[in-house]
Amino acid sequence: MGNQPKKTAEGLFELPDGDLDKGYLLGSKCAHCGMVSFPKRKICPSCLADDGIEEIPLSKRGKLFSFSINQMAPEGFKAPYVMGKVDLPEQVRIFAVITGCPPEEDALSIGMDMEMAFEPVYRGKNGEPLVGYTFRPAGRATK
Ligand SMILES: [Zn+2]
Repeated sequence: MGNQPKKTAEGLFELPDGDLDKGYLLGSKCAHCGMVSFPKRKICPSCLADDGIEEIPLSKRGKLFSFSINQMAPEGFKAPYVMGKVDLPEQVRIFAVITGCPPEEDALSIGMDMEMAFEPVYRGKNGEPLVGYTFRPAGRATK
């Protein structure tokens, strides 16, 4: 491949070889207290250490903490769509678009297993698809 897809934001995640299946979020881990942060930080929010902060790939699975169904879409999004917060095993809560299920209350339940995906989430100024991170219910067919 070698052709990097356009990202919604820089510095939040990596797409090795431009492969969406290999994508992962970039977090940081404090060598002093073990606190993991996302987005990655230069200073530990827990113990305020400013050295020994290491960049780490975050887990791609977590549990759904909360979600909401949005009937109004910002430009580039299609309503209705789902936003949710997912807790990763590293004790990090990630806010992301939820895909892979209908935008209905009973399609999701708090505490269910979710898996991270990288996919075009909206379109940029020139109509180009921009890739971001999303979560979907784990173990379901994607398309
Ligand atoms: Zn720390």
